[in-house]
Amino acid sequence: MLLLSGPNISGNEWKYVKDCLDTGWVSSVGAYVEKFEKMTAEFTGAKFAVATSSGTTALHICLILNDIQRDDYVIAPNVTFVASINAIKYTNADPILIDVDEHTWQMDLDLLEKFLSGETEIKNGNSIYKKDGRKIKAIMPVHVLGNMCDMGRLLHISKKYNLIVIEDATEALGSYYKNKHAGTFGLMGTFSYNGNKIITTGGGGMIITDNEALAKKAKHVTTQAKSDPFEYMHDEIGYNYRLVNTAAAMGVGQMELLPEFLKRKREIIAFYKKEMEAVGDISFQKIDDDVNPNWWLPTIMTEKQKQVLKILNENKMQSRPFWVPMNKLPMFKNNLYYTKDDRSDYIYQKCLSIPCSTNITDDQLASVVLKIKEVY
Ligand SMILES: *Cc1c(COP(=O)(O)O)cnc(C)c1O
Repeated sequence: MLLLSGPNISGNEWKYVKDCLDTGWVSSVGAYVEKFEKMTAEFTGAKFAVATSSGTTALHICLILNDIQRDDYVIAPNVTFVASINAIKYTNADPILIDVDEHTWQMDLDLLEKFLSGETEIKNGNSIYKKDGRKIKAIMPVHVLGNMCDMGRLLHISKKYNLIVIEDATEALGSYYKNKHAGTFGLMGTFSYNGNKIITTGGGGMIITDNEALAKKAKHVTTQAKSDPFEYMHDEIGYNYRLVNTAAAMGVGQMELLPEFLKRKREIIAFYKKEMEAVGDISFQKIDDDVNPNWWLPTIMTEKQKQVLKILNENKMQSRPFWVPMNKLPMFKNNLYYTKDDRSDYIYQKCLSIPCSTNITDDQLASVVLKIKEVY
């Protein structure tokens, strides 16, 4: 089976994990956690990085630390992986789902502005949704597939409407907007190291921020908020959301390989584009000039989505449709979905992701293309 986006364990991961096992430093403290955090801060240019047990828990903590509470609203795109919206729901806040751009598949900023200017008002410094008087506190851009929206414009809008920006950059390690790394635009940003992401720790996540107080607080609440080094004194409700040292050890090995992975992802997308841009109606995600994406998950758009999915999966080349849009999931169906013509559904009906593990061979890539061409 050719995996869609599988792990590539080919560096010092074994050595570093063995080191944890040999020394017994397998749990919540250990040198690799700090090392992994430091490498992430250095790579992204963020001042601080705090490792977490997953991308989902990283998002949850960012929302908690920014005082997102019951009945608050957080704006997010309607096309994302469910974890972004679940994290909002964990705080008892509700999402406001904004439709996406049909070319970039990122939150549609024209629609966002239209919503904010038409449906909200500012009261005591807070954006209020006029229909029910509830506060809109934050916006969570999601860098879908490692692409990014016009972050300059998004920041401008967020300032105008007093919205905290928390970036779901879980798919965007190695992506840049105007040479600035994804996750460093908002007050806080998050990464995921799930098995299918560009680097993996099996499961894990990271919060990045330039704000020292928030970084300290993130470390504190992800480790049960223990406030005394000896006594079991805890000064607030904490979470067991830490990353264990063995996983961090794997992460350090993976970070060493990241430049190589990014290079390979670029080769993969270049090959797919060269071979398929003129095939049938196949098109690719549009990337704005200011964005340099990590090309984490090459995805094509075509009327023949179902046929391509079928032929690839039947031939053991793992491919997947796009996420079911959030407004179509039962638990979010009563949440506000702001759209003009439901581009989310349009994208959902047409997109599929194709094999792109960094250890895929050129021959395997060519065989995927051959199979796809059989459909046209
Ligand atoms: C992977 C992912 C997450 C969640 O990360 P986990 O580490 O699996 O919890 C959140 N949002 C998006 C957009 C993702 O792709």
